Amino acid sequence: MNMVQHRPLRIAAARLLAAAGAREEDARTVADHLVDANLSGHDSHGVGMLPHYVRAIAAGLLDPQASAAVEDPGGAVLSVDGQNGFGQVVARKATAIGAERAKSTGVALVALRGAFHIGRVGSYAEQAAAVGIASVHFVNVVGHPPLVAPFRGSDARFATNPFCVAVPAAAGRPAVVLDFATSLVALGKVRVALNKGERLPEGTLIDSAGRGTTDPAVMYTEPRGAILPFGLHKGYGMAFLCELLAGAFTGGGTVSTIPFQKDRITNNMLSIFIDPAQLPGAAGLEAQVAAAIDHVKASPPANPELPVLVAGEPELAWRAQREAEGVPIDPATWEELDRAARSVGVEFAP
Ligand code: NAD
Repeated sequence: MNMVQHRPLRIAAARLLAAAGAREEDARTVADHLVDANLSGHDSHGVGMLPHYVRAIAAGLLDPQASAAVEDPGGAVLSVDGQNGFGQVVARKATAIGAERAKSTGVALVALRGAFHIGRVGSYAEQAAAVGIASVHFVNVVGHPPLVAPFRGSDARFATNPFCVAVPAAAGRPAVVLDFATSLVALGKVRVALNKGERLPEGTLIDSAGRGTTDPAVMYTEPRGAILPFGLHKGYGMAFLCELLAGAFTGGGTVSTIPFQKDRITNNMLSIFIDPAQLPGAAGLEAQVAAAIDHVKASPPANPELPVLVAGEPELAWRAQREAEGVPIDPATWEELDRAARSVGVEFAP
């Protein structure tokens, strides 16, 4: 395992992206997002995505020069066409506009469609929370073969559709950021198990005949199996609503209407931005949020080594650890990054 400090990793990732055709500023934005995902402990959404982005640019699926086209009638509802640009660039812009608008209108809705992979959704919630705005994000994925089965179904019908909500930092407590895929596990975790020759827990996967299995290979052989949604009918319901709210409402489309293309990952995101300062709870809000956090965390842990946390804390702990120790990059990912960099005429040498 190579341990790389985050600053040189940011520079190497930005260099690779610029060589692949991104504007310097956009290359830095995407690189920072990916390295921040690694720092937050979510390696599945970190620099390991770069080879995929390079392939998608070469295939004409990701336009490295595209920017967000904002449709703003001037009220609380805005739309953004990502124009197949870097998701990290267009979703960041959509978030900045939505958070700003919520400060005047109290609440703002931003419908982002047609973004290439936006990565770790929590980063946009953190961006809004940093300027005091709470947010809710529904995301779907199209253009990519489906991975997740509906509750009671026997094959994949949608993707890992993430959902995210954040409440800004209050009274010395960090922002609460709940950000997860609606599938039981991310596809990246299935791949890791396959590479290590491990099995997944019962109830995570089904094979192509719809039978429960612990074998990760079912996701990498044709006909493919599927990952199950988390929380039975409840997680399935959330995943399906991501499909409707992010896909149908934004105009970006759902898995049922958008054809699959190799290496394509298009995200659509419906985001709600809320200015807590304009609500009746505003006066006592910081104290209320802090008290609620302290109250749940005071629950005696069932296992003394595993204290109660609130959403967002695991990522903060990872960041502190990895900023000090570096980001681990496994040999297979390093090799892929090296190959991707050479394909665009640079070296991957953080
Ligand atoms: P996960 O299962 O690791 O859950 C993460 C969430 O749970 C975080 O909010 C974290 O703070 C919280 N959490 C974890 N442990 C906790 C504990 N003990 N107590 C309280 N809260 C706790 O996340 P995941 O489902 O593997 O998703 C990983 C990332 O993948 C997310 O950032 C998501 O946005 C991203 N994703 C993106 C796409 C896309 O298409 N762009 C698709 C799927 C997932």
